[in-house]
Amino acid sequence: MNARHADGEEADAPIFDAAAFRLDRNEADLIESARRFGARVLAPRAARHDRDATFPLQTFRDMHPEGLLAICVPKADGGLGASYRTYCLAAAELGRYCGATALSWNMHVCSTLWTGALADDLMMTVEERAEHNERRQLHYKRIVGDGAIYSQPFSEGGAAAAGTIAFGTEAKPVDGGFLVSGKKIFASLSGAADYYGVLCTERGEGEGASRRNTLYLAIPANAQGVSVVGDWDPLGMRGTVSRTLLMKDVFVPEDEMLMPRGVYFRAATSWPHMFLTLSPTYVGLAQAAYDFTVAYLRGELPGTPPVKRRMYPTKQIAVAEMRVMLEQTKALWFQAVSEARANPTKEQVLRAYAAQFTVMENANALAAKAIRTCGGQAMLKNLALERIYRDSRCGSLMLPWTAELCLDRIGREALYESGETDD
Ligand SMILES: Cc1cc2nc3c(=O)[nH]c(=O)nc-3n(C[C@H](O)[C@H](O)[C@H](O)COP(=O)(O)OP(=O)(O)OC[C@H]3O[C@@H](n4cnc5c(N)ncnc54)[C@H](O)[C@@H]3O)c2cc1C
Repeated sequence: MNARHADGEEADAPIFDAAAFRLDRNEADLIESARRFGARVLAPRAARHDRDATFPLQTFRDMHPEGLLAICVPKADGGLGASYRTYCLAAAELGRYCGATALSWNMHVCSTLWTGALADDLMMTVEERAEHNERRQLHYKRIVGDGAIYSQPFSEGGAAAAGTIAFGTEAKPVDGGFLVSGKKIFASLSGAADYYGVLCTERGEGEGASRRNTLYLAIPANAQGVSVVGDWDPLGMRGTVSRTLLMKDVFVPEDEMLMPRGVYFRAATSWPHMFLTLSPTYVGLAQAAYDFTVAYLRGELPGTPPVKRRMYPTKQIAVAEMRVMLEQTKALWFQAVSEARANPTKEQVLRAYAAQFTVMENANALAAKAIRTCGGQAMLKNLALERIYRDSRCGSLMLPWTAELCLDRIGREALYESGETDD
């Protein structure tokens, strides 16, 4: 389970071994630095942020000099230039040490991944491309230079975050920008982010609301009319501090557009793997549940007496079943994140839904099985397992690809070709 690094330091083995999964050197190095950061910085802080439901702001400050806030900012703009897959593998490594920090980091990083490598892969006119490349530099400079933190509050409690109707949060075009009003629920990083990357519907006087007119705007946290309300005391992922964000006639300058008009809708419809980016955290949690179980049964878990429980056949079978489930989860997910691209085939999209469903359901199933197998003492709050169990419960609830919606889409799209009906 453990690996010895070139510098002699003992550490967890990577979730995806570089040679076995044919990762290139640069990819493997980035992932390794994320894993080391996770073990060194996230792991010792995770229990406190979970207990107090506080945001790990210092951890985000510590990510800045490591380059982790800019992992997906293109190299030309001062970032590490990680690809979609490299980011996913690095995020899984953070997820095994603190689910809430990894999930929050995902919200931040996606603001740069979607505007970076993903946008580079989208069809844009020459004018749109020039506008986008100029505007995104503003955001990248803040992140690379000042360590600015971005978040992604999309959810509104209705069908918009599921991608079926236009967002209720509206942007009224005015001189030099927009006036934004609306409400976002589950706004992870609320109160901690410097910019809220909000999806809203641009709607001029007398116009109807359309998903095609979705705008993706960075709203400064300190802008007039922005407030964070409500408390945050959930079952799991407590360190995300996902309170409610209110916006009332907030003036947002046009330069704060994270994508040109119409491009978010294009991304959502032609680059569906963008919604698979919540899953890496939960791959990490799945690995963490398995690692905990092996260490615990071997009597090697730090903080517990050296009591071995591995000699019981029932425990051995349980670990074998967990290993099978973990390998299945990793294999399907690795394939899905490796084939993410613009305009994927129908097979690739179905596989992406299947990967999301599998990761989110299996992470929690593995954590539940870990508790049953390790036994009563293993679920005490001084150990990480019960937090892994609670955090992993949240994955299948996350829109737009909840477990229910994944099944819904796989079933429908497997049985109907585009445009087919039974009439
Ligand atoms: C820890 C945590 C952190 C989160 N952080 C963020 C964040 O940073 N940003 C963010 O945007 N969201 C975030 N979320 C929210 C998450 O993505 C969901 O939006 C939220 O869990 C939905 O809750 P709900 O009770 O409204 O869901 P549900 O009621 O299950 O669904 C919401 C709505 O979607 C529609 N819907 C559901 N199923 C279907 C279907 N089959 N077909 C069509 N429409 C359907 C319905 O209209 C429904 O009212 C977070 C959630 C958690 C648990």
